[in-house]
Amino acid sequence: MTTSDKLTQYVLPTYGRFPIEPSHGKGTELWDVGGKRYLDFCTGIAVCALGHANPRMLGALQDQASKLMHCSNLYHIPQQAELAELITEQCIKIPGKMFFSNSGAEANDGMIKLARRYGHHRPNAHNENRFEILTFNQSFHGRTIGAMSATGQEKIQDRFQPLLPGFRHLPYNDVQALEKAIGERTVAILLEPIQGEGGINAASSEFLSAVAHLCDKHDLLFMIDEVQCGFGRMGHLMGWRAFHESLKPDAISWAKGMGGGFPIGGFWVSDRKMKGEEESLSSVLGPGSHGSTYGGNPLACAVSNTVISEIIEQNLCDNVVDRSQQIHKEIESWNHPLVDEIRGEGLLLGIGLNRGGIPLKEGEMASIKLCNALAEKGLLVPPAGADTIRLLPPLNVSAEHVSEALAILKETLDELSK
Ligand SMILES: *Cc1c(COP(=O)(O)O)cnc(C)c1O
Repeated sequence: MTTSDKLTQYVLPTYGRFPIEPSHGKGTELWDVGGKRYLDFCTGIAVCALGHANPRMLGALQDQASKLMHCSNLYHIPQQAELAELITEQCIKIPGKMFFSNSGAEANDGMIKLARRYGHHRPNAHNENRFEILTFNQSFHGRTIGAMSATGQEKIQDRFQPLLPGFRHLPYNDVQALEKAIGERTVAILLEPIQGEGGINAASSEFLSAVAHLCDKHDLLFMIDEVQCGFGRMGHLMGWRAFHESLKPDAISWAKGMGGGFPIGGFWVSDRKMKGEEESLSSVLGPGSHGSTYGGNPLACAVSNTVISEIIEQNLCDNVVDRSQQIHKEIESWNHPLVDEIRGEGLLLGIGLNRGGIPLKEGEMASIKLCNALAEKGLLVPPAGADTIRLLPPLNVSAEHVSEALAILKETLDELSK
């Protein structure tokens, strides 16, 4: 049986897969089992921040794996303490505390639990607990029952009802709609600075300001999902700072690039005092309130520590900004009839396609057709919805590899538009 046959036979058919079987990689390059070479501008969907087989990351992984992989949060874990310090002191630079999970959906579930606890701790004027979290249309927060209920996409929730109650989905970047939606049971607002899976839609800095203002005014938690856009992907260690330098969120979630390919996620809660109280927000999830068997284990934390340290020490945010400019300049210079626009920030980029210009079969999506055509020529990119492809190279991608990828993109677009 081929791999494809075995997947069909033994793995639930929840994924649509491209007909590619990766074998190994080095940096931005990846080879399939047949020896064909690709440039990897998919990076496992913004995960392999340092590319493949990064020597420093491998060193940390091998070293820690040979000492201690797992020991449980019943004990003190120095790698977890180090990682929490690194993220808080050098990345967020706002006093607060971390909780470690294994994925983005779990990190968001943790933030949802934080909001629920907060809503019990600080009830409304009728002494009712508050629980409603406002999120946005086209958002993506993950696939667990909690994160999926937060997600503003019907196709993700289709026939899984009843969902977890307590979410309302609003138009993104619409201050008036948000203001109107805040009610007596509302307790938090959750958003992505750039909606990744939803098609690369950026928040405006005015919208972020308004969210912060409304949260302050109505005693709501301001929760940011940086699972896709965090740790350098937007050219800033913290993605939202690309749009709004001075914003102070109450809670932030991450995963994807945080482990560079090793599974880890987490969320952070601010140490700020709750209004009119001596207690800090980070005390709301107290002893026994949340946990994870694997979360924050020595191996995952040692690797994540190395990945984030490398991003900081090699100034990879600068490379992200430079390569992003290179991509913008080059694609804009084509003035290509199939390209409507480039959206996004840093190396979280979406190319909006002119659907009308690409001949499609019944039911075929422009994004998937282009992804397949690019893979054929040796460039891996993921789609984002029906009309957008994403460019998500490693944060340390070279100018040469960007040029090579763009040449493939141009050639492919030219052929498709014929
Ligand atoms: C991918 C993603 C998630 C879910 O992360 P998983 O690790 O797949 O659970 C949540 N939020 C955003 C913004 C994402 O891009």
